[in-house]
Amino acid sequence: MEKFDAIVVGAGPSGNSAAYTMAKAGLKVLQVERGEYSGSKNVQGAILYATSLEKIIPDFREDAPLERHIVEQRLWMLDDKSHCGTHYRSDKFNEERPNRYTIVRAQFDKWFNSKVREAGALVVCETTVTELARDADGKVVGIKTDRDDEVVHADVVVLADGVNSLVGQRSGIRPEIKPEHAALAVKEMHFLPREVIDQRFNIKGEEGVVIEALGTVTMGLMGTAFLYTNGESVSVGIGCLVSDFRDSGTSPYVMLDKFKKHPLHRPPAGGLGGEGIRRPPDPRRRIQGHPQAARRRLADRRRFGPVRELDAPRGLQPRHGDRPHGRRDGDRAEGRGQGPQRSQPGPLPQGAGRQLRHEGSQKVQELA
Ligand SMILES: Cc1cc2nc3c(=O)[nH]c(=O)nc-3n(C[C@H](O)[C@H](O)[C@H](O)COP(=O)(O)OP(=O)(O)OC[C@H]3O[C@@H](n4cnc5c(N)ncnc54)[C@H](O)[C@@H]3O)c2cc1C
Repeated sequence: MEKFDAIVVGAGPSGNSAAYTMAKAGLKVLQVERGEYSGSKNVQGAILYATSLEKIIPDFREDAPLERHIVEQRLWMLDDKSHCGTHYRSDKFNEERPNRYTIVRAQFDKWFNSKVREAGALVVCETTVTELARDADGKVVGIKTDRDDEVVHADVVVLADGVNSLVGQRSGIRPEIKPEHAALAVKEMHFLPREVIDQRFNIKGEEGVVIEALGTVTMGLMGTAFLYTNGESVSVGIGCLVSDFRDSGTSPYVMLDKFKKHPLHRPPAGGLGGEGIRRPPDPRRRIQGHPQAARRRLADRRRFGPVRELDAPRGLQPRHGDRPHGRRDGDRAEGRGQGPQRSQPGPLPQGAGRQLRHEGSQKVQELA
């Protein structure tokens, strides 16, 4: 029976940090992710705070897919027609090792997970952990997956399966999350030429701006809207307490549309330009810059349309009718366009560890 020192459930930032740290320390680690790849299920604004990652991968800036470093933070207070705001901007943030970046999670998590693999962990995607396996004394001895009932054994299981942690709930380790304790946020990415973003936000090079907005845009509910500049796109979103959405019957998409239509988005200063969702640029257009970054952007453009994001605790999602037209459950991933629904994985055959290892290496090739 093959046994791991540790199994990590989930390949978001927490799971990747745990798996990387343990594999780097020489432990035999298995990481299991239900998505097609690390980042395929994850949604975020997204701002990366460098100090935490730096502790784990000090030289991450050398090859991580970072969009822009933040030189300015704005705070807007809105009513329907007007706004007042404040901002803090400093040239000090143009330092050699900036402390905040915008990222696109689908890209960033994939990169982070490649580091986990390089550190020696076995990563298996498209596999959902269904429950913890326990011995007769109730001690956790491994996991079961949706492939079959066979237990994959480990000395330690790290649950990094997100804020809901359904595995944790099912195992009685943590209670069900309450609507009052969770926020529901939606996000869109608007693709704009780099030079247009630079002009509208008064930035240059790799500089970026973060904007948080409060006021009538959340229609009396507790929450905020945001707007972040990426390299060649702008992330715009809004989020409020799940309980507030439930009680008010308001849809987050209605709020987001309201935010986008606010007069402050009008050019030349307005970030979105007031034109609504834009198509991504033609991928055949010549891409400037570092070849690796250029390849990445090209791949992004091919895959990404303007996408709407939704992330909510399971069971607390809006009804199907609340979703925007044409959107399906399979389109949750950040920056992921509409693709075929994946089929259920087959059962885990005899020799689970061997099979998992084989699939892990296949995935590495696919991602390469
Ligand atoms: C709209 C939005 C904007 C945000 N903006 C920011 C921001 O700007 N900056 C910031 O720091 N934070 C932000 N956050 C919060 C941030 O996204 C979370 O803190 C972060 O994703 C938590 O990481 P995690 O690894 O714990 O969980 P997750 O990122 O949720 O990863 C959990 C992983 O586990 C996998 N998984 C779940 N269940 C199973 C299972 N049973 N078996 C196998 N795999 C499983 C999932 O597929 C997923 O990949 C934002 C969140 C939202 C929703």
